[in-house]
Order: sequence, then C-alpha cells, then structure tokens
Amino acid sequence: MLGSGTSSGVPSIGCACAVCTSTDPRDRRTRPSILIEVDGGAAATFAQSVQSILVDTSTDLRNQALACDVRRVDAILFTHAHADHIFGLDDVRRYNQMQRSAIACYAGRHTVDDLRRIFSYVFDPPVQKGGGLPRLTLFPIEGPFTLGGVEIVPITLMHGVLPVLGFRIGAFAYLTDCNQIPDGSWPLLMQDGGVSTVIIDALRHRPHSTHFSVAESLAAVARLGASRAYFTHICHDLPHAETNAQLPPGVELAYDGLVLNI
Ligand SMILES: [Zn+2]
Ligand SMILES: [Zn+2]
Ligand SMILES: [Zn+2]
Repeated sequence: MLGSGTSSGVPSIGCACAVCTSTDPRDRRTRPSILIEVDGGAAATFAQSVQSILVDTSTDLRNQALACDVRRVDAILFTHAHADHIFGLDDVRRYNQMQRSAIACYAGRHTVDDLRRIFSYVFDPPVQKGGGLPRLTLFPIEGPFTLGGVEIVPITLMHGVLPVLGFRIGAFAYLTDCNQIPDGSWPLLMQDGGVSTVIIDALRHRPHSTHFSVAESLAAVARLGASRAYFTHICHDLPHAETNAQLPPGVELAYDGLVLNI
C-alpha cells in the first residue's frame, strides 16, 4: 500500500483538525496507489518477466518509492486519469534508467487518450531535445490479460458518471475511486471462488457523489463476501485507530506502508 489518502492527501494543507494534527503515522495518507509484487516461485524464466506492478502513478510517487524502497517497476496499471492518480508519472524515469528499458503501461481506452493529452510532452514531444522523458509504452486494456504469470482482470467501476477500472488478480481486488459497482461487474468479482481480500474506496462517513462512504463500502464488502477488506482513498474525517475500533471484524482502514500477503 503506497498511498491510502484521498486526492488532497492527509494532512490537508492548512487544516488543524484532529486527524491532520495526529501523531499516529497511519493518519498520514499520501495519494492512492499500490504496488503488487508477484512471487514467481521456482519458475526458471521468471527473472526476465514482470515482477513488480505499480497501480497508478500518484502525485506522491517519488516519496512513496523512497518510503517503501521500491526498486523495480516492470508495468503500470492505470485506474483512471484523475490528477491524484497520474501526476507522479514523470518520476518513473528513474526506473527507465535503472532497468534500461521502457515501461509497459495498461489503461482503459479513455484513460490512454487522457494520458496522451495530459502528458503530451512525453507522448508527442517537441523536436528540440533536452531534459529526460519517461519512456513508456501504452497499451489499451480490452479485457483480461496476463503479466508476470498472473491474470489481471479489469473491473469496470462507476466513479460518479465516469467509468474507471478496478483490477482483480486471483482472490485479490483493488477497487478505488468508485461509488458504484455496476451489475455487469459483479460476476467478474464473484466467479472462480470470488475475492477474499479487497482494497476498496471509502472516503468518509458522509455520502459523496463519486466515492463510496464507509456504510456503502461495508455493504459492497458484505456482498463480495471478502474475508479481509481494507479501506483506501480516505479523507481527514476518519481517524485511523478510532475508526478501526468501530469497523466489523475483517474490515480495517488501510495505511501507507501496509503489506498484504495474498
Ligand atoms: Zn482519486
Ligand atoms: Zn484535517
Ligand atoms: Zn478519481
């Protein structure tokens, strides 16, 4: 868990509330992102394959990479092109340098278009050279695909009126930036034994037009039947320790630096 905070991060700039001034490190939340490290077991050819999959390039990517000592990024999955999920993109240059290769990026078709437009200096650079550019290869996601020997299943989620992507890998799912799981996406989450561990959006208690509230997220977790659920994209309304004490067994707030073994 690289970042568990909402778009503005926690603490919020200029805010003196109890969470923003908390000394509990779990109340310091950077912008939302996770890193998935694939355990290749004894596969002989694994050294050449994908081991480290970053989900989104958050505004805080550089600090997250330093805090969690992220040494490799072999592929990037994008959920959507909101600023909090993409504005750290330039920092992947360091991985290009260390790995001496371009990085494969996977995103829904609209997100691919948004990335090309927002990062036109990367994808449509001027003739004049100078300064380093991230080296990225964009692939539109059309359906399930395989990275590092694991199947990545894109799950369409509704983020207000904007369709975004969540991702399922085996019995794990990452479902951020959503306030609804469409009917057509439930079978993808329930089939093949379903999801036992989920990281899911839960902004705050009060309802919001584009994010699940805690109550809405709890209802989604119950329907999923996941035995472990971790809330993300959390704003400064939710103190970590106090909120966890009120949540049902198996459900807790995620925090930056949390490691899950799936
Ligand atoms: Zn977001
Ligand atoms: Zn605050
Ligand atoms: Zn968003």
